[in-house]
Amino acid sequence: MSSIFTKIINREIPSDIVFENESIIVIKDIFPKAKIHLLIIPKKEIATINDLQETDKELLFDMFSIAKKLAQDLQITEGYQLHFNVGPKGWQEVMHIHLHLMSDL
Ligand code: AMP
Repeated sequence: MSSIFTKIINREIPSDIVFENESIIVIKDIFPKAKIHLLIIPKKEIATINDLQETDKELLFDMFSIAKKLAQDLQITEGYQLHFNVGPKGWQEVMHIHLHLMSDL
């Protein structure tokens, strides 16, 4: 079964998309926990950080590079938070990895 983020990627459900390339999509979090709250999501369905493989190295680098670029574009390089929740007991609700980018600047 595809994740809610795959449904967003496939335009089966709407979302506020702020960036997209061939391997990554960035959306606004529907329930923002900061002034800026974006989710950087690989199009490849990887359930949790525990499922990462050596071959995902470039994808992870690209996710962080996009986070850095967005922070520059949004003029929040002075302070922002990047985090992954990992597993249901690590506050992960959607089992499709995503990097939270948050800032109150
Ligand atoms: P996590 O707890 O790390 O799995 O984070 C999942 C995040 O996805 C939460 O911050 C939710 O608010 C957000 N979220 C869930 N459904 C949607 C949606 N349809 N569009 C945008 N964000 C969503």
